[in-house]
Amino acid sequence: MKIAEIDTHLVKLPYTTGGTGNIGRMDWTTLDYVLIRIETEGGLVGWGDAFAYGGAALSVKAAVDHMLAPKLIGQDASAIGQLSYMLQQGHHLLGRYGITMFAISGIDIALWDLAGKAAGVPVSTLLGGARRGEIPAYASLFNYSDPDDVAEHCARALGEGFGSIKLHETGEAQVRAARMAMGDGVPLMVDTNCPWTPWQAREAALSFKQYDLHWLEEPIFPPEDFESLNRLAIEVDIPLAAGENACTAFEFQQMMNADAVTYYQPSVTKVGGITEFNKIIAMAQLQGATVMPHAPYFGPGLLATLHILATMPDECLAETFYYKTLEASLYGDAIVAKNGNIAVPTGSGLGLDPDPDVIKDYGDKDA
Ligand SMILES: [Mg+2]
Repeated sequence: MKIAEIDTHLVKLPYTTGGTGNIGRMDWTTLDYVLIRIETEGGLVGWGDAFAYGGAALSVKAAVDHMLAPKLIGQDASAIGQLSYMLQQGHHLLGRYGITMFAISGIDIALWDLAGKAAGVPVSTLLGGARRGEIPAYASLFNYSDPDDVAEHCARALGEGFGSIKLHETGEAQVRAARMAMGDGVPLMVDTNCPWTPWQAREAALSFKQYDLHWLEEPIFPPEDFESLNRLAIEVDIPLAAGENACTAFEFQQMMNADAVTYYQPSVTKVGGITEFNKIIAMAQLQGATVMPHAPYFGPGLLATLHILATMPDECLAETFYYKTLEASLYGDAIVAKNGNIAVPTGSGLGLDPDPDVIKDYGDKDA
């Protein structure tokens, strides 16, 4: 099963959030994907996507096109672990975090899609077998700033069947509004995207304490300050979550050795794909840690995450962006949460291929 061809497509799907559109100091108006299409000499096609947004998307696409693809043509597509090692070792001097690993992640996901299609089974079967066919999803709300808007979106998400909600807010007024709207006992998470020093994080976390958070996500900058995360969790006694900004199983090993958080959040389009993700799940099992995938995606990276989640315990949730409008979807409504659950695709490989018309209509013609 030799690799014959690798193409990339930069796709931007316009969407609205109903809020400020600002998460992590980025203004989001489109969902950006670097889709990677790998075709074998036998004509089998696999799809992956590499984490990308804004101007960085062009860099990620260039990394796949010029740095990785030339080394993969003619290689055996089924040797996924070997190819992951070869790409990581061969490019380590270009960064073990960031664009290099994002590009490698997208390639890896496409290779797993190919492996499933070649075997005629879903990726979840290759990962050891699915224990559930649909995954409970939490509504990952955007930043609204106005507490009334926060409350309104929380109430709406609960009304649509979501069993838990995550905010992207940093203020106590917004967290209070969410808890008041949701009532007691409904899991509420708060994602802050690395805004604070350890001391500031402690002050903020203590102000959130009364709202019974299921987890507080990425309260400290820089995200790799694992020791401060560990200290914060002990000081404030609130479960912490982090990991979307960590790449490779090695970095997660460092996080786990520091006992940094309660919930470890590898992101399949960043961490090194399914291959690295798998190692993290194994490490977490050995250490008694919980993996809670980061996946506010709508492309192959989401499908890969669903297949991974299908093999994981019930408390492991899918993340779905709670957008207001999305102009087009790569998979129609197959990945939309229904009554708070997302179905795991049952076809071979990742189970779904992206809509070629959407790629054509929303692909960046200049890229
Ligand atoms: Mg986050």
